[in-house]
Amino acid sequence: MDNSAAKDILVEYLKQKKLRPTKERFLLLNEIMRTNGHFDADRLFATVNARGSNVSRATVYNTLDLLVDCGLVSRYRFGENHSRFEKAFGRPRHDHLICLECGDIIEFVNQKLEKIQEEVCSEQKFKPHNSTLQIFGVCAKCQSKKKHQ
Ligand SMILES: [Zn+2]
Ligand SMILES: [Zn+2]
Repeated sequence: MDNSAAKDILVEYLKQKKLRPTKERFLLLNEIMRTNGHFDADRLFATVNARGSNVSRATVYNTLDLLVDCGLVSRYRFGENHSRFEKAFGRPRHDHLICLECGDIIEFVNQKLEKIQEEVCSEQKFKPHNSTLQIFGVCAKCQSKKKHQ
């Protein structure tokens, strides 16, 4: 996918916030745009540094905050003591099933669920910003493993 539209959003956002458009910030954005799935800050830090870039841990954390704030990245808490991130740009809204045994994160989209949320918001005259549903449990793979033990 073309990253230039995401880059434009970040450029505009940094300008508005009077923050410097450092090359580290764009390097991190690029790395995130080519990452599929859910990652944590430490893994992003390790990946960019393994590629030979010299980005500090503080810059990684700080840039993730900015990217979440401007809507390019989503932040989740999957019942762990650290946040997980994933690219939000160019991706439809979706929800997550989290397996407590193997840690698998399964994504799903359900139109009925979307409808219910719209209904609830309009009933309450509530203007939604974002929402996320997380269901914790045991995935099919882990359930069948247990049966066979
Ligand atoms: Zn599992
Ligand atoms: Zn996801």
